[in-house]
Amino acid sequence: MTASAPIPFTVIGGFLGAGKTTLLNRLLSASTERCAVLVNDFGEINVDAALIRSHDGTTMSLTNGCVCCSVGTGFLDTLARLLDDIGRFDRVVIEASGVGDPWRIAEIALVEPSLQLDGVVVLADATRITVQCEDRHIGETIRNQFAKCDVVLLSRCDLASESQRKAACAAIGAIRPNVPIEQLSTLTPVHQAVFGRGRAARFRADLVAETVDHENDFRRWTYQRAGRFNRDRLAAAVGALPRELLRLKGICRVDGDGRAQVFQLVSRNWSLTPAEDGPATASETITLAGVGTADLPSDQELDAILDRALSTAA
Ligand SMILES: [Zn+2]
Repeated sequence: MTASAPIPFTVIGGFLGAGKTTLLNRLLSASTERCAVLVNDFGEINVDAALIRSHDGTTMSLTNGCVCCSVGTGFLDTLARLLDDIGRFDRVVIEASGVGDPWRIAEIALVEPSLQLDGVVVLADATRITVQCEDRHIGETIRNQFAKCDVVLLSRCDLASESQRKAACAAIGAIRPNVPIEQLSTLTPVHQAVFGRGRAARFRADLVAETVDHENDFRRWTYQRAGRFNRDRLAAAVGALPRELLRLKGICRVDGDGRAQVFQLVSRNWSLTPAEDGPATASETITLAGVGTADLPSDQELDAILDRALSTAA
C-alpha cells in the first residue's frame, strides 16, 4: 500500500461575527469537492455547525473550548477520527473559533504528514474592524489573528462606505504591512479567494509557542428555554443586553412565525432570519450561545434580561 498524498488543510479565522459561517456555506455550495469541515465554536453549544448547510463531505463540531489554546483530547480525538477516514475527502477546512488564533491551528497541519497546509484565511468585517483593532478588551486578540495569515478577506464590503473600507485596509496594514487584503462581495468567487492561498508557506511551526488563554479572556453564556419570544419584547430586551456581550446567536421561535428563526447579534446589531429546516430547528425551544469579554455579567443577570422577552401567549 502506498501512502496517499497529503490533503489540503485550510484554516478560516476571524473575530466573532466576521462572517466565517457565511463564507463556509458559500464555499460548500459552490464546491464539487468532498470537504471535511471542522467547526470550533467558542460558545458552549456549537451553533455554527448546525448552521452549516449539508454537503457531500462531513461536518464535525469541536466543542471542548477554544481549540487554539486547548488542543485537548476532544480535538485530537476528532482529528484522529478524521485522519482514519481521510481518503474519503478532498480537503479539510476548519473554522477557528471567533476568539481563536488561526495560526495555532494551522501548525497542526505542519506537523501532521497526511495534511498539507493550504492556507490561513482571516475574515475582517469592513464596517467594524478599525474600531475593533483598537478596542481595549478585544483588540489584542484580533491583532494576533492577522499575525501569520496568508490573506485577509474583508467581509460586508457591500455595507461599508469607501472610507470604512480604506480605514480597514490601513488598520490591517498597520499590523501586517504587505499582507494581501481582498474585498469580499456577494459576487466574489470564493474558491479562488480562500483555497490555495498559503502554498508557499511563509511561516514555520513554532517549537515553543507562547501560551495564550482565550478561556480566561472571554466568557460564555448559554440561554436555553422552552417556548417562544415575543418580537417587540425581544427588541426591548436585546437593547438592554450589556456591551460586554460581543456575540449571541442561535435558533429560536417567535410569536406569529411558523418557522424557526436564526437569531444573530454582533455588537449592537441583531437580526432574525428564517432557519433552514433540520434537526436543530425541529423543536419549540430557544437555544442561544453567547460570548462576551471576561467581565460579562452573570448568567442569571443575562437570563433575566432575555426572560423578559418570552411570549406569554399560550
Ligand atoms: Zn484559543
